[in-house]
Amino acid sequence: MQNPLTQARLRFAALIPFLCLIACSSSAEPPDDASEGDSPIAFTNVRVITMNPAQDILEDQTVIVVGDRISAVVSSSLVDLHPDTEVIDGSGRTLLPGLADMHVHISSSDLPSYVEYGVTSVRNCWGWEGLPDIMEKAEKSEIVSPTIHSLSPGVDGTPPSWPQTQLISDPSEAPALVNRLADEGWLGLKMYQNLRLDTYNAVVDAAKARGIPFSGHVPHRVGIDRVLEAGQICIEHLSGYEVAVTTRGGQGYPAWISIDSSKIPGLVEKTVAAGIWNCPTSAIFLRLSQNLSPTDREAMANNRRAFIKALYDAGAGLLIGTDSGIDVVAPGVSLLTELRDFESAGISRAEVLRIAILDAAKFLGQESEVGQIVEGMRADLVLLDGDPLESFDVLEDPVGTMVRGRWIPD
Ligand SMILES: [Zn+2]
Repeated sequence: MQNPLTQARLRFAALIPFLCLIACSSSAEPPDDASEGDSPIAFTNVRVITMNPAQDILEDQTVIVVGDRISAVVSSSLVDLHPDTEVIDGSGRTLLPGLADMHVHISSSDLPSYVEYGVTSVRNCWGWEGLPDIMEKAEKSEIVSPTIHSLSPGVDGTPPSWPQTQLISDPSEAPALVNRLADEGWLGLKMYQNLRLDTYNAVVDAAKARGIPFSGHVPHRVGIDRVLEAGQICIEHLSGYEVAVTTRGGQGYPAWISIDSSKIPGLVEKTVAAGIWNCPTSAIFLRLSQNLSPTDREAMANNRRAFIKALYDAGAGLLIGTDSGIDVVAPGVSLLTELRDFESAGISRAEVLRIAILDAAKFLGQESEVGQIVEGMRADLVLLDGDPLESFDVLEDPVGTMVRGRWIPD
């Protein structure tokens, strides 16, 4: 039986002839043809948080990228790089799989800001005409952009809140509406605030018949109990729960100021039983609540954190998303607010990163493509000047981000 070091050497040796055929370039411009002619890039002597459960953290590694793929993750002592390889010094630095912001409202001018903060995937939560073209350009690396996954434009009743709302006023309209949105190729339906119970139910039936998932708000005329049994795959903003737990009435962030904590376990249990995920989007709540007194604002934030922690402890699916693009929430940098809020809820930094990277990939059905630094995965990476497991502060200013194998230094 060969020892592991010899095996690693052999595996890398198999790569050398291929690397030698490829010219090296330090350009951050997209390749003329993304499918060929890509340059090999190596991150050297770097600490790697692989997110691979079998070998989570590797010290002093060389990570080689060819095209848009991770070609090798090898101990630096075993590597002789081809002289044409572009070398990025990882000494004292940490390489992390790219982060995902799982609730954004994308606009094309915001795209580079996500990348600047290490966000390589986003879940856009309100589709719009023209977005599929931008998504395609991102896929082809024709623009600096995270990979965009997008829900449909919101399905809602009157009065509509946002442009391109897909209004439904009669249950009989649901099959045609749902089939049209499914034909447009969205990741899922976005359910919104003003759906009535009869129209919500009709959209649910049509979505199940068509086999398209649905996520979104808990419409106030539908309520949390119905949404938890309807097969919705994700609830955004913890909406609907606050109506069930508040002791001061109302809905939205003020309702979280005073809650009956004894109601949390029952709701969490139902959530776990339903298999429904939650994307709390604390970043926007912290911004919107700045008009509250400091005491009320802290109570709101802490009650939401208690709910998030209870969901986490019970094993409910959680997503880290910000609502960036809604004008009070800045794209990219706001992900840090969200990560820190999960940490403030009492979840370890390692677990917060796992949620932001691995669970996001799982939720999107992308876990064989992104979320780990292992051979064969897409090269979506962020290089940090320090260790995010010691402090999230290092995410304030990444050394650079790699999206689909394209290195974009800060
Ligand atoms: Zn939103």
